Amino acid sequence: MGGLIGLRGVDRGHLDDLLDRGEVYAKQVASREPPSAELDGRIVATAFFEPSTRTRLSFEVAATHVGARVMTFTPETSSTAKGESLKDTMLTLAAIGADVLVVRHGARGVPALAEHWTGLPVVNAGDGRGEHPTQALADALTLRQHFGSVSGLRMGIVGDVRNSRVARSLLWSLPTLGVEIVLVGPSPLLPEANPWDAEVSTELDPVLPGLDVVYMLRMQLERGAAAGLPGLTGYPARYGLDDERMERLAADAVVMHPGPMNRGVELGQRAADGPRSLILDQVRNGVPMRMAVLADCMGHE
Ligand code: ASP
Repeated sequence: MGGLIGLRGVDRGHLDDLLDRGEVYAKQVASREPPSAELDGRIVATAFFEPSTRTRLSFEVAATHVGARVMTFTPETSSTAKGESLKDTMLTLAAIGADVLVVRHGARGVPALAEHWTGLPVVNAGDGRGEHPTQALADALTLRQHFGSVSGLRMGIVGDVRNSRVARSLLWSLPTLGVEIVLVGPSPLLPEANPWDAEVSTELDPVLPGLDVVYMLRMQLERGAAAGLPGLTGYPARYGLDDERMERLAADAVVMHPGPMNRGVELGQRAADGPRSLILDQVRNGVPMRMAVLADCMGHE
């Protein structure tokens, strides 16, 4: 029994198992089959110390689809507001009866600490600039459904790569599945180190026509993304996936974004809402993929 803190070091076999399981659940959810019972009667606690729409709600739906009950902790309306420490909060959730913790926090490493403190399986729902493993898995499932296989695809991750935990989880997993990644953005938004040996470009236009997948990122202003940039005004003109750039995509290329989108900044209407957009499929696949991860936490095959 173990949680999922990140995708770094997760081998191909485990990634394939999770995706296979996600694919089965996706069909089950789509055909409105009755919920599975892998987590029958267990309690999944969600503790989000940063805002979330997709991730928290899809974890909660996923938990109920595998038979669990959900305990939602919200820091703003809980004793965190009275000064209770993070550790005491986590131990409290465990003492009340949580079997699995789903944790999001602005500081990298908090989900791993929560696992250490409580001994419970913890799923990282996004930790600062660390990782966001279930987003990358939902994205991999989305690509697998769309293209049949992800191996051999060329993906451009465009924008604020430096501050993106989604980019990190994609970089730690998709190349293991055979995806080639090129990172695109202005120098201050590209990662300081490149342990993935990913190709890097400060210009979008030359790489755009060669991409199968254009993965747009939101500027993480809450993590100081604007600090190194001379001004944000030129950003959409140089890096935004606007209607004109959509004309220059390869014939079968698709557009992805983890949400929330800032329309008019990193992408325009055709990119977001047009037939090439997989953005709502990414959201949809968050449910079966998180079902798979929760079931995996409980050690069910
Ligand atoms: N929702 C993703 C995250 O929590 C992406 C973003 O916020 O831009 O990291």
